[in-house]
Parts: sequence; C-alpha cells; structure tokens
Amino acid sequence: MELPFRYQRSTLRAIRKNKVPSTGRRWRHHSVHLNRALSLLVAVVVACLSLEVLAQPEPTEITPAANFQSHFQYWEDTAGDAQIDQVVNLPDDRWSLVANGSAAFGITQSAYWLRFAVRNQTPLNLNLIAELGYSQLDDVVFYVYADGAPVKELKTGDSRPFYPRDVDHPSVLLRLSLASEEMQTVFVRVATAGSMIVPLRIAREQSFFETAAYELKLHFFYYGCIFVIILINLAVYLSLREKLYLYYALALLGYLLFFASIKGFSFQHLYPQSPALHAKVLLVSIPALALFSLLFCREFLNTRINSPRLDKVLIGMMVFELLFLFSAPFLDYQRGIQLASFSALFFFSLLLVAGPVVWAAGVRAGAFFTLAWTPLTIGVLATAGRALGGFPENFFTENGMQIGSALEAFILTLALADRLYREREDKIAAQAASLQEAQSRSIAQNLLTEALTHDPVSGLPNRNRFEWMVDQQLQQAPERRYMVGLARITRLDEINRTLGLARSEWIMKCVAQQMVELAAALPFIQAIRDDQGREERVYHLSGDCFCLLVDIDKAGNDFSALNTALRRLAEPIWLDHLAIELQPSFGAASYPEHGQSAAELIRNAHVGMEIAPRDGNQTGIYSPKYDIYNESRLTLMADLRNALQQNQIMLYYQPKQDLKTGQIVGVEALIRWHHAERGWVNPADFIPLAEDTGMITQLTRWVIGQATRDLAELHNDNPQLSVAINVSARDLESSELRDVLDLALQQSGLQARALTLEITETAAMLDPLRSLQALNGLAELGYQISIDDFGSGYSSLSYLKQLPASELKLDRSLIEDICISESADVIVATAIQMARSLGYRVVGEGIENAETALRLKANGCDLLQGFWLCRPKPISELKQWLQAFEADERAVRSSGP
Ligand code: C2E
Ligand code: CA
Ligand code: CA
Repeated sequence: MELPFRYQRSTLRAIRKNKVPSTGRRWRHHSVHLNRALSLLVAVVVACLSLEVLAQPEPTEITPAANFQSHFQYWEDTAGDAQIDQVVNLPDDRWSLVANGSAAFGITQSAYWLRFAVRNQTPLNLNLIAELGYSQLDDVVFYVYADGAPVKELKTGDSRPFYPRDVDHPSVLLRLSLASEEMQTVFVRVATAGSMIVPLRIAREQSFFETAAYELKLHFFYYGCIFVIILINLAVYLSLREKLYLYYALALLGYLLFFASIKGFSFQHLYPQSPALHAKVLLVSIPALALFSLLFCREFLNTRINSPRLDKVLIGMMVFELLFLFSAPFLDYQRGIQLASFSALFFFSLLLVAGPVVWAAGVRAGAFFTLAWTPLTIGVLATAGRALGGFPENFFTENGMQIGSALEAFILTLALADRLYREREDKIAAQAASLQEAQSRSIAQNLLTEALTHDPVSGLPNRNRFEWMVDQQLQQAPERRYMVGLARITRLDEINRTLGLARSEWIMKCVAQQMVELAAALPFIQAIRDDQGREERVYHLSGDCFCLLVDIDKAGNDFSALNTALRRLAEPIWLDHLAIELQPSFGAASYPEHGQSAAELIRNAHVGMEIAPRDGNQTGIYSPKYDIYNESRLTLMADLRNALQQNQIMLYYQPKQDLKTGQIVGVEALIRWHHAERGWVNPADFIPLAEDTGMITQLTRWVIGQATRDLAELHNDNPQLSVAINVSARDLESSELRDVLDLALQQSGLQARALTLEITETAAMLDPLRSLQALNGLAELGYQISIDDFGSGYSSLSYLKQLPASELKLDRSLIEDICISESADVIVATAIQMARSLGYRVVGEGIENAETALRLKANGCDLLQGFWLCRPKPISELKQWLQAFEADERAVRSSGP
C-alpha cells in the first residue's frame, strides 16, 4: 500500500504513541471556533485590520509532543471546477505542504483542495474527528478513501442546511473510523465567499466530545446568566415602563445573538434549514448590539443633560448603526464585515470615554458605566491581542470578551438595581413631601376659612356666616316669618379705654359665652351646624355687636322668654370685684316686612336699634317712618340720573404701587358725586341703590368712557399705568359691558390689558355660572380680572379658583389689624401665600400706615393701595402727584448706594 503523501515524522510518532493531549489544554483547542469568531468582533478594536489579517489563523496551540500535529497539503483550483477524480490523480508536485495544519488564503474565488491521511497504529479500532476550525466556511466536501477506493463522502459548510451532519456540532467536522493499522486518505474541497481559513485538527473522538461537552457547559452557563439578566430587565421594564431597561435587555440580546451566531449555535438550534439567514444574522447582530448599547448608554448616563456634546456624538453613532442595521441584510459578506469592524472600533472607544466624561461631571451613573465598560474593553483587547499574536495564549486571552461582557452585564445590573432603589427612595420622599404640602395647604385653607367666618376674639361665627345663614334660610322657607335681632355693647369703647384691650376682650368672651348659653334655652332661635358639626346660634357681627335669627312662627309671637334673656344680658359683669355695666342696646327687623335679604335686615335692625328708647333695655323694632335714610332713597336715584347728565359725577383715582420695584403700576377709578344739596354723597350709599334699581349699567358705562379717556391722557407721561374699573354683578348680566368696553378701547386707542375689571366675590357669587361665563369671555379678550374685597364676604375658595382672575385684593377689614393682632397677621400671611400659590397677584387695600405696608411686604404681598400711599385724587392732582413721586424716586435712587 502506498502512502499518498509522506507523514511528518512527529505526527507519525504521535499517532504511534497514541498520545492524547491533557484535558485542561484540550478543551482550549476546541474553542478555536469561538475565538476565531470573537476575533471577528475584535477586528473592531484593531481598526485597520483588513480581511486578510482577520482571516489569519491563530497560531496553533498543539505542541508536537503533546498531540497529533495535524498537517495537510493543498492545491488551488483557480477555475473552481475540478472534479474529485481529477484531483485524486494530480501528481504530487502540484500539492504544497502546510506543516502546522493551519492556513489562510485570504478572500479568493478559487476552490481549495486539501488532502491528508491518518493511520491507526493502535491495536484497536479508532474513531477520529477531523475538524476544520472555522465555522463560517460556505461549502466543504469531504471525500474519504481507503485502499485507493472511495469509502465516504460528506457535504457540509454553512451555505447548506445544517443537517445532515456527521456530528451534531456547529463546527465543520468529519468522522473517521479506522480499524487497527488501517489508513485513510481524505480530500477536502473548500469554497467560500468569506476568508479562506482552513485550520485543520484531528482528534480522538472521545477527547473531542469531552472537550466539546465541557466547552458547551461553559458557554451555556454564560448564555443562561445573560438570559436571566435579560428577563429581569424586561420584567422591570414591563412594570416600570422605563425605556432604559428595555434598551439594556435588547443590547444584551444583541450580544447573545452575536456570540451564538458566530459560534454557530444559532444556526444549529434556531434555523438549521436556513443557511442564508445564518449569514445575515451575524451581520445584523453587530449593529443591533451597538445600537441598543448606545441607546442604553444615552439613557443611563442621561447625556442629554449631563453632556450635550457627548450626546450629539452618541446620536451620530446611532444613526450610523441604524443605517448599518437596515442595510446589513443586503450587504455582501465581506463589505458587511469591514463595516462591522470599522463601526465597532468607534463604538467601543466611544463608550469607553462616555463613562468617564459623565463621571467627571459628577454623575454617579458615570462611575458605574466606566466600571462596567472597562472589563469588556479589556476583554476585547485581550482577545484582539491574542488574535494578533501579541498576547500569550491563556484562558483569559481566549475568553476575554465573554468574561468582559459577563462582568459588564453583572455590574450594570447592579447599577440598575442601585438606580431603581434610589429612584424609589426619591419617589417616596417626593410623595411624602407632596403629602406634607397638601396637608399644610389644607390646614392653611381651614385656617383661612375659619378666619374668614369667625371672630378672632369670641370664636363665634361672624357676619359673613350670619348673612349666608339668613339668606339660605330665607331661600329655603320664604313663607315663614323671621326676625333679625341685634345686641350692641355700647360701652365697649369706654371699657376698652379704661380697662385695656386684654380685659375688654375677656369681657367680650364672657358676653359671647353668656349669649350662647341664653340662646340655647330658646328653641325659636334659628340654629344650624357648620361643616365641623359646631352649633351656631349667636353670631358676632362686628367688634361690639352680636346678632341672631328668630323664627317668629316658632315663637308664636310670644317674646317674653326672649325679653327675659335680654334683661339677663343687661346685668353687669364682675371683673376684679368691679361690676362692669355693659349697657347693651337692642334692635330688630322682621322678614318679610322690613327687608328681603340678610344685608337689608341687618341694616334695618341697626336703624331700629338707633330709634329705640335709650332706657329700659327695650328692643327697637325697625319702622320705615323713622328711617331717615329711606325717604331719600327714591329721590336719590332720580338725582343720580341727572347728575350723570350734568357732569356732577367725576372720577377720582387712587394709585397702586408695586412693592418690589416701588413703581406705580396702576390706578383705581373711584366714583365721586357732589350733590347740589346734600354735598358729597358716599359711594357706599348710592352704589348699592344704583345696583338695586339698575342705574348701575348707565353709571358703569360712564365710568368706562371717562376712565379710558383719562388713562390715555395719563399714558403720555406714564405709559406703564393701567386703570382698574369697579364692575358690579348687574353689569355682568348683560352683554352690553363687552360692547361698551370695545367702544372705549377703540376711542381711546388703549389695549385691553391696560384695563382691569374689579369684581367683588359676593357679586360674582350672585349668579356664579353666568358670572364665570361672562368673566371668561372678558379675560379671553385680554382684560385683566381682579377679585375685589377678598375676605369681606363669604368666601368660596373653590369657586374663586375657577375665576379667570389674575389679581386678588385683600379687603381692608382683613388687613386693618395685622400690626396689633398676631392672629390677624397669620391669617393675612396665609391668605397671601395661598392666593399666590393659586397664581394671583395680591393687592393689599386700604393701607393707612407704614407699619402695615411693611408687614404686608414681608408677607409677600405684591401691590399696595391706600391712604398711606395716596388718597384718591382727581386726574389733574394725580398727574402732579405722579410727577412728584417719580422725582422723589429718582432722588432716592441717585443718593442711594
Ligand atoms: P372699593 O372698590 O373697595 O374701593 C376702595 C375704597 O376704599 C374706596 O372707597 C377708597 O376711597 C377707600 N380707601 C382707599 N384707601 C383707603 C384707606 O387707606 N383707608 C380707608 N379707610 N379707605 C380707603 P370709596 O371711594 O368710598 O368707594 C367705596 C366702594 O364703592 C368701592 O369699594 C367700590 O366697591 C364702590 N365704588 C366706587 N366707585 C365705583 C364705581 O365707579 N363703580 C362701582 N360699581 N362701584 C364703585
Ligand atoms: Ca375696587
Ligand atoms: Ca376693595
């Protein structure tokens, strides 16, 4: 029998001695595939690696003494059409030797034929496995000859479906069975579109499988870990809906796919019948893992905020990877691999600097990222270094990339957990804070509501509450008869002056207490319960005045019990062994005879009190014939109509100052009427009448015309000024107001925003829906809306919040006492704070002294208006005042620091 070619002596020796490599080293041989696959990605790091360099086989680890030193001969079939019969008969001198068993021929159109032989020199049958350690070879055909005759033919390579194979393993394998002393010759035809790399290795079957099993265990442990991490991150993503975790899971999936496809596992297990897909998956996995790593990096490091420049580079890289991803399926293999190497180089370096850049900006995530990315980069470098022959062969250089990526996954998972923990802590803290805030806001609201509805001294419900209660009652049972009763402690002023504020307050508390007790025994006194379940019977109308509502039908016209109670109230109070005479006076007005509303009944009860006989604690019952105010009411309206026509009416203006800048920002127009016989008539006396009789619309029309003309004039010197016009509920009822305002703007050439419409909350509350509608319409046109007299009526905060107002004016009654009463100060501070938190600009009204102004400023009030700054003035005087004010300001500014 003739040997087709000569064995090298060392090989023969090895075969004869039947030497098997030690397992520790052996398993490494079998990971040659993976390493070669890894070197593909590694090519990345070695940027300018050309395909030829990439395709160079790694130096074989087999030492001649320890193993079969595989070697073969080859012949290049440049036409690629040689048949086995021709090849078998080629003369020996056409064959060239590859002594170390591994060769790389670069990218070539040629087919390469290899031939080698093995002889079993053991006394037993021997199963061998010949392995071409590059799983990417497209088309490989093995022809086995024994004794010059063909015994076996195997077609394989990854351009064919995975099965059938000799061995169910992703590498290119051939199984050889040799009887003792038998020799077989193998011819291999290799054709491939990629690099022609042909590392040949022959091993005993048992040692091959031992190694393969060990290797498989290791790899699947790695895949298992990564897979679990992917699942965890997907679960976190699904529960939190944070893209970060999704990107991370997808990036890891990209790595998994890359390793699995370059090793051939995915081909073997996922799509064994689709070789075309196999080639594409590898190409797609590289841009996919890069793209999702970049997306993750951007999200994790929050580069948009932490480093905008880095962010731009990341986006640029992502665009590239995206284009690559979509074109990958259409690229030819070589072009694809070149592009992958190039992009991976940039991708790795970019992410290597991304961590430190963000870390340097003081962001914790940057440290984690650096910590995670460095091992992967070291792993890639190690694998690349080994592939290039610069680093020694060992476990770490061989598996560096997988170890690195596992470490990376582990560290980043820790970082994500850390982040999750921190975010949860922050969320809990934020929730606690907002809860706290809501709580303190509701406490403030309650405090405010309490303050707006109760007297700070006696703690009894106040006038606002009483009016609301009475009106409610009259509405609910208008057919019943009622009486509003008042009691005034006439000597309160005197007691105050002689005994001091503290004692007089104590006395008022006693009186209040006594009245509540007396009233509780009288069933015909109207009682209600408030939100907190407190019973209300007696109300504290103002400093020295208490009131209550009597249900006359219940009393049955028998007031003896009431009179007894009143007499008790008139008895002196004992304080420090002094009998203090209170000298109360009583007044009453009944419904429906003496009035239709709470306000009217209260007013008339006051009138009744004034006409009551001074002695004997009699209750003065209202009677129109004693009402000096009443007779003139009718004539007054007729006079007002004339006055409007005859220019007896004029406007005064009161400036509003901005507390922050010191500037005068606007003026409020206030009506003034000089009556030929009566002299100055108080607006408080004729405005309500004008509202009742409907005269108010005419009056408002006149005010709007005059005020806009005056403002246009004021704008010559003070273009920043706006004018506030008082509007009543009646005005909001008709659509006329809009037209009047429009016309005034046209004629004066002013902008809508130069006009502020002041509306009292009580007015708005008369017909809440309609007012809201009207005000919304006006606000849309650009008019400023201001809530006037806040705190003087029954405030419905929930309704006020809906109004399109930008300004809120704190009523004088609310502010008056802030410098002498701490509770008043707290209330005002709370009101200001709340109003501001609702977005209102706050104006303090009726400021009469510097202390009050200072306190308001300290409490955050925005604007101020009052006699202290300036009394309302006719326009000519106002102009002079404005000039003087500005001159003063300038002087202060220039002398100031
Ligand atoms: P208001 O809108 O609350 O106007 C502020 C009132 O407080 C004005 O009274 C003003 O002179 C007065 N005032 C300003 N600063 C101080 C201060 O430091 N101390 C004190 N004690 N009072 C101060 P006035 O001008 O008597 O007007 C009373 C009310 O009549 C106004 O209250 C407003 O509701 C109504 N009113 C005035 N002019 C008009 C108008 O043109 N149209 C309508 N519909 N109502 C008007
Ligand atoms: Ca006003
Ligand atoms: Ca006001």
